[in-house]
Amino acid sequence: MVGPATPTQGRGLYRGRFAPSPTGPLHAGSLVAALASYLDARAHGGAWLVRLEDIDAPRCVPGADRVILQQLAACGLHPDEAPMWQNTRAEHYQTALQQLSDAGLAYPCACTRKDIEAALAASGQHKAKHAELVYPGTCRVGLQGQVARAWRLHVDAIKTEANTSAWTWLDRRLGTQTQNLLRDVGDFVLKRADGLWAYQLAVVVDDAAQGITHVVRGQDLADNTPRQMHLQHALGLPTPQYLHTPLVLGADGDKLSKQHGAAAVDVSPEAVLHTLQQAAQVLGLPSSTADTTQAALTDWTAAWAKAWVSGKHAA
Ligand code: GLU
Repeated sequence: MVGPATPTQGRGLYRGRFAPSPTGPLHAGSLVAALASYLDARAHGGAWLVRLEDIDAPRCVPGADRVILQQLAACGLHPDEAPMWQNTRAEHYQTALQQLSDAGLAYPCACTRKDIEAALAASGQHKAKHAELVYPGTCRVGLQGQVARAWRLHVDAIKTEANTSAWTWLDRRLGTQTQNLLRDVGDFVLKRADGLWAYQLAVVVDDAAQGITHVVRGQDLADNTPRQMHLQHALGLPTPQYLHTPLVLGADGDKLSKQHGAAAVDVSPEAVLHTLQQAAQVLGLPSSTADTTQAALTDWTAAWAKAWVSGKHAA
């Protein structure tokens, strides 16, 4: 069950967004996040925005941004404001990094992945295969004459109101979540060694710039939330409410993803309602295949927004 917005967030103050990375067209999984964020905005009488997260240029597929916007339009999911592209936002990310650096909360790092692995091994920490490396903080004391590669957040230099770097937060669907950033994540990257802006910094800067009050996105992103809350705290930015939607799993039991070649959703006039109904079903919303005309699309979307606000769905 999805929790309602807090009572202090009056109708009309709600601003939500869908923030796809244009690494390919929308697939069944990303459509669930798109639909959920749209319905939550509609259910709260708020605005729904679309942001193309194209900062990781090597992973982006040329033209995929346009395809995604066309797919959303074909589904009747029309943003209330002009879409934003992150590749136009570099100066804002730079300003935020400068603010953190000036406050002594971010530092340049010269370590390669090998250096980090060696430092962790030397301190007796062996990472599980595929596990993220928790940066041991080598460059906190300065670059020691080495050349800066990336920029990192000094996690431990920022404290929550409870004076720790552990966060407890309430996800509207998943309930109470906790993560100890210092222990489980470490000083994470804000600007990458290849010069690209990291997702964590860009998403926090842009959610604040767009006045986002409610983030609705796929559950695979849930464990990024404390990093984003930490950054919001460090930059003096407000923290939105978060809701993480169920994932769509492929036949192999893995999350559907563009990298693993998930098929684009079929948004042809004959198929679009069925496509949306499948996404709605994942969200526990009522569905029926009785009427598949285009006219029924808006009726269904309105009915789902109503079901969503009355909490009848089981998402
Ligand atoms: N761009 C991210 C993705 O497509 C989503 C970011 C977000 O919603 O915070 O996975």
